[in-house]
Amino acid sequence: MNCARATYANAVVMPQLGHGMPSAAGQEHMGKPICSCVPIPRASGVSVAAITNGANKAPAKSRTSPRVVGLIVDTSDMTRECNCCSKGLDTPCSGGQNATMTTAPNHARIDGHLDLAYLAMQGIDLESNSIDRARYGVNFPALGKGAFKIIFATLFTEVGCDEPWGYANHMDVDAAARAARLQLRLYQGLESRGVIRIVRTQADLIGWNSPGPIRVVILMEGADPIESPQRAQWWFEQGVRMVGLTWAKGSRYAGGNAAPGELTAAGKEMVRSLDALGMIHDLSHLSDQACAQVIALSKGAIVASHSNCRSLVPGNERHLTDETIRAISARDGVCGLNLYGKFLANDRVATMDDVARHVKHVREVGGAKCLAFGSDFDGGFTPSDCPENAQRPEDAPKIEQALAQAGLTPVELEGFRSENWLRVLRTSLPKN
Ligand SMILES: [Zn+2]
Repeated sequence: MNCARATYANAVVMPQLGHGMPSAAGQEHMGKPICSCVPIPRASGVSVAAITNGANKAPAKSRTSPRVVGLIVDTSDMTRECNCCSKGLDTPCSGGQNATMTTAPNHARIDGHLDLAYLAMQGIDLESNSIDRARYGVNFPALGKGAFKIIFATLFTEVGCDEPWGYANHMDVDAAARAARLQLRLYQGLESRGVIRIVRTQADLIGWNSPGPIRVVILMEGADPIESPQRAQWWFEQGVRMVGLTWAKGSRYAGGNAAPGELTAAGKEMVRSLDALGMIHDLSHLSDQACAQVIALSKGAIVASHSNCRSLVPGNERHLTDETIRAISARDGVCGLNLYGKFLANDRVATMDDVARHVKHVREVGGAKCLAFGSDFDGGFTPSDCPENAQRPEDAPKIEQALAQAGLTPVELEGFRSENWLRVLRTSLPKN
C-alpha cells in the first residue's frame, strides 16, 4: 500500500506522530486529508458485516454487494482452467497470454506486494472478469493473465482512519486487531472455497508453478494489529508469514517513513518474537532509524517487499538507501520493485526506462539476487499512475522484455521473475 494520495512520493516528512499518539482522521497532510484521500470511491450499499458473518450465507447470484465476494461466491463459477493459459488443468503453464520470453521452461511469476483484501473492502470483485480496468489493475483473473502464481497479499490497516481497514490510534489495539482479522478471514474464506491456497510451509511451495489456485503468502503491513509480542504466535498460526512493523504513519512498534522514530521497547521485543517464529521481516515503510535497528536486531530473513532506490528518487525515506540494499543483500533478501510512477521518478512522468534504472541500480548495489517484483499495483493508485506498459499484472512480460533489452541476463530475469522470492521463502518457511 503506497498511499499515493497522501503524497508520500514527494519526500514528505509528516508532522511528528509520536508512538501512541492519536492520528485523527482527516488530519491535513500536504493539503490532502490523510483518510479521505483514497481515490477509489467505496461501493454503495455494502456491509462489512457481510465479510465478518457471511461465510454461510447466500450464494453468489443473490449477493447484493461486491464486497462480499471474498467469502460467499457460488463455487460453480470457479474456473477449471489454468488462470494463465486457459488451457485446462492437465496442461503445463506456458506463462501467460502475452509471454514473449521463451528460453525458460515456464514464466510463472511471484509478486511480493499486493493489497487484495483492501481492494475487496472497497467493493472490488476479486474474481470478476469485468471490473473497471481503467481504475483497477488487479484481481485474480488479471493476475492469472500475468502468470502470477504466488503473491504476497497484505493485511493492510491504517491508523486514524474510520474505513473498515482503519482504527483510531496506535493504542486502539482491539480495533486494529479487528480490522486485520477481517482481512485475514477474507483470505481464509477464499482458501476454503479453493480460490487461493495460503502458503504456510515449504511444502506449500511444491508445484507452485503448476495449474491450480494462486498461492498467497500473507503479509501484515503495519503491526499495530498484533496485540503484543507474545500474541505474534497467534497471527503466525493463522498463516501470517511476513510482518512490516509499520505502514507510513508509524505504529506502537516503530517509526514509519512519514512518522520518524525508532523502534519502541515493544518493537524491539516484537523483532525477537517474530524471529523466534521464523517470520520474515519487511523493511518497507520503516523510518531510517527503525530500519537500521531491525537490520541490526533481527536474525531472520529481511526484505523490502515494495520499495525502490532512494538514490534515484532522492530525499524520499519511503525508499531504500544503498546501505539498506547492501544489508538486504548480505542477508540474502530481496527488494521488491514498486511500479507506482512517482516512486520511479519524482520529477517527471515515469517510463519503462525508469523501471529499468531502478532494477539495474539494485543489481549494481546488492546484486542480481535482490531483484524481485513488489508491484503494489493496487496500493491506492490507478493503472495510469504507473508507467506505460507496466500498469497491470499482464504487463509483466513487457517489463521483463524491457529489462532484457536493458541488459539483464536470462538467469537474472528468472531471479527477478520468481527465483529470488522463492529462495527467501524456501529458507524462511517452516518445513511442514
Ligand atoms: Zn505499502
